[in-house]
Amino acid sequence: MVHIKGFKKTSLVDYPKELCSTIFLFGCNFRCKFCHNPNLVLRNLKDFCDLDEEYIISELIRRKKNVSSVCITGGEPLISEGIIQFIQRLKSEGFKVKLDTNGYYSSKLKEVIDKKLVDFISMDIKSGFSKYNESSGVIVDNSKIKESIKNIIESGISYEFRTTVVPGIVSQSDIEEIGEMLIGSKYFTLQQFRSTNDMIDNSLKGINPYKISELEKFKEILKKYILDVRVVN
Ligand code: SF4
Repeated sequence: MVHIKGFKKTSLVDYPKELCSTIFLFGCNFRCKFCHNPNLVLRNLKDFCDLDEEYIISELIRRKKNVSSVCITGGEPLISEGIIQFIQRLKSEGFKVKLDTNGYYSSKLKEVIDKKLVDFISMDIKSGFSKYNESSGVIVDNSKIKESIKNIIESGISYEFRTTVVPGIVSQSDIEEIGEMLIGSKYFTLQQFRSTNDMIDNSLKGINPYKISELEKFKEILKKYILDVRVVN
């Protein structure tokens, strides 16, 4: 089973070029300092109730004429034991499915790809490989991240890689390294960092984001490696 902790009925921003509903699943193996969903990552699973899966599915079906795409996010959705069955259920009801992932569960992601269970994959790239432990807050086996990048690029499924550019965590040299990691890929999003009161590490609170001119400079660097790079401010 999956533990659904949030449900946004309509979103204009969670699925590129689609109106979608968004489902938030509990749990994550990373501890990114800038994470905006600490409830899904740090809290005890039993401290707050799951939303009823049957209710969510029936709501999606009831509104399907207007919203026929679903974004599954988290947390890290692939940490959920029942994620494959859950996505299969959405697909059997005829929904387009986008999966947000940190790419660590490379075997499960490969299964999702091989079974053609999703229509869009969005994978977070936390930083260059040399700083992955620091940026994700845990010890990361980079070979799993590499494998996921390769499998996504070769999948034939629509995708984007994306990085939240946090000053002090992602620098210009990291951007060069990210470009080298993603060489040959098609789509990349540079996502502006926003300081909020609800992050895993509050020492980032009040940190000023990069100026737009700096993001545009990062974009030009990435365009040496990646076909289509966009900045989301
Ligand atoms: S931002 Fe990091 S810690 Fe938060 S859900 Fe995503 S991968 Fe997990």
